[in-house]
Amino acid sequence: MEDNSKVPENANENCPGLGSSNAGKESSCAGCPNQSACASGEAAKEDPAVAEVAAKLSNVKHIILVLSGKGGVGKSTVSSQLAQTLAMDDELNIGLLDIDICGPSAPRMMGLEGQEIHQSNEGWSPVYVEDNLAVMSVGFLLPSKNDAIIWRGPRKNGLIMQFLTDVVWDSLDYLIIDTPPGTSDEHISIIKYLKSANVAGAVVVTTPQEVALLDVRKELSFCAKTETPVLGVVENMSGFICPKCSHESQIFKPVSGGAEAMCDELGYELLGKIPLDPDVLMATEGGKCFYREKPESLTSTAFKNIVDKIVDKCNSEVKEDAEMS
Ligand code: SF4
Repeated sequence: MEDNSKVPENANENCPGLGSSNAGKESSCAGCPNQSACASGEAAKEDPAVAEVAAKLSNVKHIILVLSGKGGVGKSTVSSQLAQTLAMDDELNIGLLDIDICGPSAPRMMGLEGQEIHQSNEGWSPVYVEDNLAVMSVGFLLPSKNDAIIWRGPRKNGLIMQFLTDVVWDSLDYLIIDTPPGTSDEHISIIKYLKSANVAGAVVVTTPQEVALLDVRKELSFCAKTETPVLGVVENMSGFICPKCSHESQIFKPVSGGAEAMCDELGYELLGKIPLDPDVLMATEGGKCFYREKPESLTSTAFKNIVDKIVDKCNSEVKEDAEMS
């Protein structure tokens, strides 16, 4: 029987599926970038890189992708603070992998600017913030933080593959992957390579205004098309609480109901809302864990609730998998 369920994300509309005997030959295939690979049967074969990545990351319990539709919504802040907050539990080992090749911010946000990675026979050693918190970023490979990377797709894919197979992580409880904004080459590659690894799902970050929500809908559609589970949506910059009088004002007005209304409409869970808070900016700029610095603040409470929900979701997925096997 034909398996017509595999449809690449760059396929034409009405794709018959890679497993179809008509793959690459139907009229709907005309002009598709995969046409010759589909017609020859090459596209239907499993990429050996998928098995290699799964084997290399078999000691990672939960892989969490942090995505956003737009730049500037605080995705890297959420990634770095999620990693730092999880690492407050000494029993857990955490990794943060920054694959934002053109705009790596993990070195700065984790307080590791100027650090270098070391290469051994086994591969690249990540840079450690603490014994249980390791970071890998293209930012560590650049001679200067002002250097731009101007790479095309294949070179980016090569580096992502190297990050997934050549980094010597110890056994990790959580690997947080900070991705660039949008649905670019990096996303297509990482989703493809991680197909058989322990991906818990994606945390999608947005801000409340409609222009950001429009793009986040595309990101959620990308997750659905690539069968990437979504752990939930985080609304960042959600209101501003005055540090002096604690009055809350809406800087980015959620005119259409914000992420909450979008999640209700599309059936995703809103993990929580994080207010705009100058203290978070200061903590992130200094590579500090905001929750550790100001555990009593409203923002810390909101963020910790989000982290707890993510942990619960990861653990319940593992439990469900164990019950099914
Ligand atoms: S060429 Fe392949 S991927 Fe493109 S539409 Fe046809 S079967 Fe689908």
